[in-house]
This record gives sequence, C-alpha cells and structure tokens, in this order.
Amino acid sequence: MADQHGIFLRLCHIRDTEEQVHGKGKGKGKAAVQDVRLSAGVQKLRDSLLGQMYLDQRFETVHFYHQDARSFPIGKVLFQGQPIALAKKNTFDAAHWQKQKKPGWYFGTWPPTCAEDIVGFVDDKHVCFSCKQQEVCECDYELWMDGMQLEMVKTVRLSEVGPGEYGCFARRDIDWYENLGEYTGELRPLKQGRKSLADTQYSAHIMMGPPRPKSVKSGGQAKCNVDATHRGSLFRWLNHSCNANARLSWGRVGMNRRVLVVEAMQPILEGMEITLDYGQEWFKGKHKCWCKSVFCKNPAQPRTTVQA
Ligand SMILES: [Zn+2]
Ligand SMILES: [Zn+2]
Repeated sequence: MADQHGIFLRLCHIRDTEEQVHGKGKGKGKAAVQDVRLSAGVQKLRDSLLGQMYLDQRFETVHFYHQDARSFPIGKVLFQGQPIALAKKNTFDAAHWQKQKKPGWYFGTWPPTCAEDIVGFVDDKHVCFSCKQQEVCECDYELWMDGMQLEMVKTVRLSEVGPGEYGCFARRDIDWYENLGEYTGELRPLKQGRKSLADTQYSAHIMMGPPRPKSVKSGGQAKCNVDATHRGSLFRWLNHSCNANARLSWGRVGMNRRVLVVEAMQPILEGMEITLDYGQEWFKGKHKCWCKSVFCKNPAQPRTTVQA
C-alpha cells in the first residue's frame, strides 16, 4: 500500500540511480549538481512523486522531509525529537480557548468553537489572493488552497542550513510580489507576558472574528496566533534575515476566509534562501542573528568579521 514512506523510498531509489549514472560521489560536492543533469522525464517523475508524498488524500498525517539541492527528500525533519505535521489549513483545538478571557476588539461569540469562528470572515480593504481583486468575488478557499499546496511543493525546497537546522529555498525564479502560499498552523490565543521562542519564531498574528462593526467608530481588531511550532506549512521553516526577501501579508480568499500568505518582496532567484524579518520582538531575548546582512540588527559575530 502506498504511504508517505513508500514514496520517500521510491524517490531515494531514483536519486541513487541518477547518481550512479552520472558517477557522482557522495558528500558536499553533491550540492553543486543542478537539475540540468536530470532528464526532463526524471524531473517530472520526481515532482509528481513529491506532490503525492505531501498531498495524497489517503494519508492521515503527513510529515516533512528535508531535501538535497535537487529537491530529492533525504530524511524526516524532527523538531525537539518530534516530526512536524503538515497543516494544509489552520487547525483549531477548542481546549486552547475555553478558559481564555475574551480579548478586546473581538466582535464574535465567545469562546470560538471552530477555525471558521476565527478566520471565516474577511475584512473590507483586503485583496483576494485568488483573483487579486479588491471587489466582492466568488473565489473558493478550498479550491485555492488545494492548488496552492501543490504550487508550494514545486516552488519551495526545505534544506539544511546547518546540522539539524533548516530553511526554505526557491526551486525556481520568483517574481516581485508573488504569493507563495499560506502560512498555516494552530490557531491559538495570544500569549500574555513573557514569550517563548515558539511564540515569536514559529508564530504569526492573524486578525480574529468578525470585522469591527461600522457602528464602532474607532478601535482595532483582536488578533491571535497562527502557531506553527508543531504543525504548519513549509513556511514554518522560513528563517529570519534583517534583509529579508519575503514577508507575511494579510488578505482573504473569496468572501469567507481570512488568510496569511508569504509574499516575495523582491525577485528571488532559483537556489536562494527565502527569508522573513521576524521583527523587533524576536531580538528582545538573547537571540543572535546569523543573517550576515550588512543591515543586521543583532549580529552573532562582530560586524567586521562578517563580510567576506
Ligand atoms: Zn477572489
Ligand atoms: Zn541579522
């Protein structure tokens, strides 16, 4: 029976066969081998199997695998000893919400009972990420989401940036302002007080509940966390850079779904790492930054030794 591991093994076999054909040894040099050396047929087969590995409807839980430079999966990614599960869309667990106090600027019934109570609304000014229009549209979230899942696997490769550390890399050239897909995770209340690494590194904010009624003249809109610590999309592994080439953007798909997407802020060339700016909050702790950008706000090494 086909399962994720079975497809992984098939991909390993294809990779090994290709390496024998081209007589390439193991080790670091492998990273330099580009797609160019793979026949179109092999590339097609690899991509179709990768899609199946992540998106086959029959798989109950799907885990992430990190990939080599040609996007072949190498092994399951673990975080604190546990595999990370794919969340095609935001998940909701009522237990996280029951004992929470209703936040200010929340205009729905409390507590929320499902993901739709939180993200099943749209905000006036938002653009639809499916049709790119600001006007009322009939785009379907589920349909967009399904298409985007496959697109993400084709656009982004998850690879090691250091031992046990991962990042997202462009599998093709990406355009200005291109939407790369949804940032998903568990919908959880904002944490009060001291925040852990997970609260900033793997979480992003999204507005929650119905938009502020017109009768409420001024004020804000309550937000919650999209927490991708244990489950999420590929974008969970986006690393921080003080000179980031992508950002998170709020918007909607159709008239019943609020979404948070990853958007390119500049052209990103094939092979480049895709990065986000985690914001000031992330630097409050003792985190040092390894982005090596000349704009770095908190370099891990003295600036003078950073630039090659
Ligand atoms: Zn639309
Ligand atoms: Zn930096």
